[in-house]
Amino acid sequence: MIITIDGPAATGKGTISARIAEKYKLAYFDTGMVYRAVGLQMLLNGDDLENQEAALKIAQNLTFPQMIELSKHADFRSDAGSHAASVVSSYAEVRKALLAMQQNFAKNPVFADGSPAQGVIYDGRDTGTVVCPDADVKVFIDASPEVRAQRRYKDYLAKGINADYNQVLAQMIERDKRDRTRSAAPLKPADDAIILDNSHNTVEDDVAFVSALIDEKLNSKR
Ligand code: C5P
Repeated sequence: MIITIDGPAATGKGTISARIAEKYKLAYFDTGMVYRAVGLQMLLNGDDLENQEAALKIAQNLTFPQMIELSKHADFRSDAGSHAASVVSSYAEVRKALLAMQQNFAKNPVFADGSPAQGVIYDGRDTGTVVCPDADVKVFIDASPEVRAQRRYKDYLAKGINADYNQVLAQMIERDKRDRTRSAAPLKPADDAIILDNSHNTVEDDVAFVSALIDEKLNSKR
């Protein structure tokens, strides 16, 4: 069973995917990590983010264990790390170089402890369109930029990080624009994805919605 959950930043994809992975005993691949790993490695090397050659070299040599190691760095999910990931993810060659690693995960899915899993849930921007076009269930989650900025802003405050809502909203709109307008794998729902606008939902509502789609698929396979 392969499930894909795509959508823009701060739609709660990660939280929902982790909950679904636990409920259905699926391995989980947060595909944003591959771009974060390349972006962070560029920052650590002191590379100019506009240097596509340097980004490509890092992407071509990135391994799954290296990505996990980089994910422990403080800047992996910082604003600087997010910006670097967003820039490198717009390079078509970088995306191509990172595709096999993402697709291979479904051939031999494992949990974080290395034990084998029966299936995978992917989350990202292009997992239903490019990474796993043959996925069993595809969901595209969306919410208004204001709602998503509000969620991100509250996350910052909860973590004790000083933030300005208007600035968070402006960054959200900028990242959305880069995701939706890039020529390589722009953010858009797969033709066969189910669209969920969760602007007014709780996480429980979303988990129930996705679970119903999975249950329906499992029943149809029996
Ligand atoms: O989801 P997350 O914020 O961790 O993604 C980091 C960056 O990687 C984002 O800028 C997003 O546009 C990009 N990304 C992508 N394709 C994916 C997953 C993430 O381009 N499948």
